[in-house]
Amino acid sequence: MYLAIKRRSPTRHPGADRSQLAGATIQRMPDHDGVTLPHALTVGADRTLRAGTTRRRFLTWSAVVAGIAMTPQLCPGTASAEGSADLFAPAPRDNPFRLGVASGDPLPDGIVLWTRLATDPTAPRGGMTPGSVAVRWELATDPRFTSIVRNGQELATELDGWSVHVDVRGLDPARDYFYRFIAGPHRSTVGRTRTAPRLGAPLSSLSFAWTSCQRWDQGLFTAWADLAQAAPDVVFFLGDYIYEYPIPATGPRAGQPRPESVTHEQMSLEDYRDRYALYKSDPNLAAAHASSPFISAFDDHEVENNWAGQISEDDVDPRVFLARRANAFKAWWENTPVRANLRPVGPDLNAYRRFTFGDLVDFSVLDTRQYRSDQADGDGVHKQDAVTADPARTITGAAQEKWILDGFTSRSRWKFLAHQTVISDLARTTGGERKVDVDQWGGYEASRHRILDGARERGVSNLASIVGDIHRTVVSELKRDYVDTSAPVQGVEISATSISSAGDGADVDSQGKAIAAASPHVKFGNARRGYARATLSPTNWRTEIRVTDSVSTPNSPMRTAATITVPVDRPEINVS
Ligand code: FE
Ligand code: CA
Repeated sequence: MYLAIKRRSPTRHPGADRSQLAGATIQRMPDHDGVTLPHALTVGADRTLRAGTTRRRFLTWSAVVAGIAMTPQLCPGTASAEGSADLFAPAPRDNPFRLGVASGDPLPDGIVLWTRLATDPTAPRGGMTPGSVAVRWELATDPRFTSIVRNGQELATELDGWSVHVDVRGLDPARDYFYRFIAGPHRSTVGRTRTAPRLGAPLSSLSFAWTSCQRWDQGLFTAWADLAQAAPDVVFFLGDYIYEYPIPATGPRAGQPRPESVTHEQMSLEDYRDRYALYKSDPNLAAAHASSPFISAFDDHEVENNWAGQISEDDVDPRVFLARRANAFKAWWENTPVRANLRPVGPDLNAYRRFTFGDLVDFSVLDTRQYRSDQADGDGVHKQDAVTADPARTITGAAQEKWILDGFTSRSRWKFLAHQTVISDLARTTGGERKVDVDQWGGYEASRHRILDGARERGVSNLASIVGDIHRTVVSELKRDYVDTSAPVQGVEISATSISSAGDGADVDSQGKAIAAASPHVKFGNARRGYARATLSPTNWRTEIRVTDSVSTPNSPMRTAATITVPVDRPEINVS
């Protein structure tokens, strides 16, 4: 029931109405109302992003604006903004690159470059004054930019929170590149990124990392500095990039500057933008983004704790919740290095997508929030029952479920699901009863049956699942059913712990003990903060569990709590 926010018809092609493209008109359009421009052009039937396919039909917002309204020298890929300053606000006097740079969604021939302008991240609107700013970008094969292979210009518009998403194409596969942005006299820091290997080409090794849950007020982002040092080929962020809650004055971040909006729960687009600006001012997070391309998914806290489809945590009117979801999605898109075609349309954002690396691995990145049924039994920790097993309920939605199953037929050696929360039951016994958290797949048993049965039917002998959400490392066997002891082990799931959510933690805590006691399929657990980093080869998936003992004091050392090795063709967990 999208009563509050109307979807634009795909037939309203933006190019047909130039008057709407005048800068002042665009900037006055309500933020949640979605502009008419790129949305209509971005819905593709093939959700697998591959080199050489249909991506060029996707026009970016700035490309459309530039192509219609600008003089030729302002088309992307050409000269500077000089001579047309009347179309833009002048470049800010202060350095506008305070939120850093990022790259993401690597393809064999392309990468997304991201920045968002803010001269003062904790001030309203990041300290920016109204008006668009021309931002040049450069991509080179060396960090000194002696060999620039691509460059161009984008408009950072107020409408998009002064964010920039550049979709660079025509690059070489499996190659490091360096990039930076320029606005007036200001230069951003330099980011390093890397394209994906050629599709289907033999690939002997891929390094990757994954993590989630970086609640700013609960701990320092020490893990990101360690990850930046490692600079893996690609980093997966699997949800809870921000938290929507008010931020207390106390805690490990006491005294650090913060926006005025931290005093209330985030609701408006400006609130969410403030929150991203705050998080992105962290130097360790910025260093991680500058070190490696990210592939990003959202979970609940980018919007609201434990939301499900159109249903909010507190069951507010769905029309009201969808307006909030639209604000949250818009801010997520503005602040995430994803392609322009993920730009939300009102409260809808097509975030599930697949990335393939050579002949080695597919990562299917899921969205298990937007299309899910409401949590069973009022949410929380419960016994599984007829509701959790109801085949009419779903955590993926029907369309995404079919897309996941279709992906299992690919020729890639490994099949990974990169997503939000555990497929495995992390059962514990309370009051003599076996219970699970029904926000996880254990509360959507029929979805688990359909995905794991579908994997088996399609010959996937060892499905891999990487997740976050639970603020602990948990390594477990994937099975369609954890009560039926005859159900075979079909894969391996590794939940990476949180960057900072839940504070210092412990190697072993009471909840970890309870899970281990009631869940014999769990082979390792740890409740410190950190991330997981892995090397994948045609024969092995080797994961180092990187943790630190403290996120309440700066520069606490990181260590490897365990190394998990899984062979390619059988779901066997080796812990050392
Ligand atoms: Fe979280
Ligand atoms: Ca979560």
